[in-house]
Amino acid sequence: MARIIGGIATSHTPTIGFAHDRRLQDDPAWAPIFQGYAPVKAWLAEKKPDVLFVVYNDHVTSFFFDQCPAFALGIDTHYGVADEGGGPRKIHSIDGHSKLACHIGYCLAAEEFDLSFFQGKNLDHGCFSPLSMLAEHEDGWPWPIVPLQVGVLQFPLPTARRCLKLGQALRRAIESYPEDLKVVVVGTGGLSHQVHGERSGFNNVSWDEQFLDLIESDPEQLAEMTHADYARLGGVEGAEIIMWLVMRGALTAKVKRVHRAYYLPSMTGIASLVLENETSKADADLLSSYRARVGHQLDGIDQIEGAHPFTLEASVKTYRLNKFLHDMVIPEHRTAFRADPEALFEKCGLSTEERRMVREFDWIGMVRYGAIFFGLEKLGAVTGYSNPEMYASMAGMDFEDFQRTRNVSIKYSVAGVEKK
Ligand code: FE
Repeated sequence: MARIIGGIATSHTPTIGFAHDRRLQDDPAWAPIFQGYAPVKAWLAEKKPDVLFVVYNDHVTSFFFDQCPAFALGIDTHYGVADEGGGPRKIHSIDGHSKLACHIGYCLAAEEFDLSFFQGKNLDHGCFSPLSMLAEHEDGWPWPIVPLQVGVLQFPLPTARRCLKLGQALRRAIESYPEDLKVVVVGTGGLSHQVHGERSGFNNVSWDEQFLDLIESDPEQLAEMTHADYARLGGVEGAEIIMWLVMRGALTAKVKRVHRAYYLPSMTGIASLVLENETSKADADLLSSYRARVGHQLDGIDQIEGAHPFTLEASVKTYRLNKFLHDMVIPEHRTAFRADPEALFEKCGLSTEERRMVREFDWIGMVRYGAIFFGLEKLGAVTGYSNPEMYASMAGMDFEDFQRTRNVSIKYSVAGVEKK
């Protein structure tokens, strides 16, 4: 069984990654940052977790206002380092624990947290900046992560209460994962800072100290506060600190503080905190009823013949092929496909089997493989296949026979009126 051994709370200001990359540990202005994180790094080295669940927010880097989810769970197997304007930092990309992430996705959905799920996105300083100080990573990272991106930039934000509740649900999710994994939950963000407008440079050290007390001893009180309370006390951007409540909610009511540090060099209070969970025994009856609840919505769906529900697992497995099919909405992609499909397969990194299925228009093969139909119909639109021809092919019928099963025999597709 997976268990949460503790939680880490940390600021995620780019200053931390900057200090690491410029090797500023001996500079008196920067040294306290390294000193603050040294005990966190030592704790992680001693505890050797198998996975870090990292709660962070993106800073208009990989997520934009065309789609701004409140809670987006990363289900990918790998995450690159985002370019935030001057090229990405020269650090290793990091593995994702996709299986645990998918499990958490189902569990939280059963608890009525309707998350967004993301793949194919790079992570910005919100995630990688604090990670830089948590382990040696010159030869790669010692653990995979599951990232949870929280939308804390565009109001309305999730409430502080919602973050705490999500953390509580996250604990049940992680502790119902069948594999023996040691998990550490990392909450990032803050502390007090405001980086825009006339109040730019606002800090509140006494509030930061109070917050550090409360997150440990009375998170309920923090959950009662409004976004305006957080903005007034800790700056508008400092309101991102509600992400720490996800971490705190995932821990036991009582925790043991192992480490706490705070340093305010310039714009943001840089804090780190390590809280250890009380050991608790899993209740076998509770666990089996919880698992039944999580499985309830899809119970029996695998008995429906000829149905291939598009699940998180299928989405992860077929991301590359689905993206290839989806990108038929981009004129340059379909032009390249028409001109030289083999070259485009190569460029997009399709596997031998994926290439074969596309080349042979193996519609049922692609569906069985896990591709979503709405990608197939885009390929059909580009190559002149009508939707009913694809349906007939998937059903294993002659087109004419299939059409006889319809009320009228018609042909159509999603193709527009592009000039070839
Ligand atoms: Fe931030």
